[in-house]
Amino acid sequence: MKIALIAHDKKKQEIIELAKKYKDVLAKYDLYATGTTGTLIMGETGLKIERMKSGPKGGDQQIGAMLANGELDLIVFLRDPLTAQPHEPDVSALLRLGDVQKIPLATNVNSATIMLEALKDETFFNMVKGSNPDD
Ligand code: PGA
Repeated sequence: MKIALIAHDKKKQEIIELAKKYKDVLAKYDLYATGTTGTLIMGETGLKIERMKSGPKGGDQQIGAMLANGELDLIVFLRDPLTAQPHEPDVSALLRLGDVQKIPLATNVNSATIMLEALKDETFFNMVKGSNPDD
């Protein structure tokens, strides 16, 4: 199972706190992240994460490519809805592909908390299994 972690700059602290709180759960999965988010989480938690490029430099697109290939099972993408992002088209594309693939995708910390709590229980993936159009 593969999980992607992304956070816009003003949400970096929130994703770090989330990763610390759910470190034991996250450690069971293959983790991917955009560049800066991944570096920060690894530094704060010791979790092993495969990092893409920084989001504004193509990292969101790389995560999007994984999505398109059906390679991700869950995404936590803590967006900053109050700040204009230079790579907004990439952000929109990623969210769209998430819906195309019907991948559980949390865009705020409370949604992410519910998903990560659910991950403690193996039935989580059974609930969503088979909803992917490529399954
Ligand atoms: P970053 O990218 O983790 O490299 O900051 C996140 C984003 O802005 O999409």
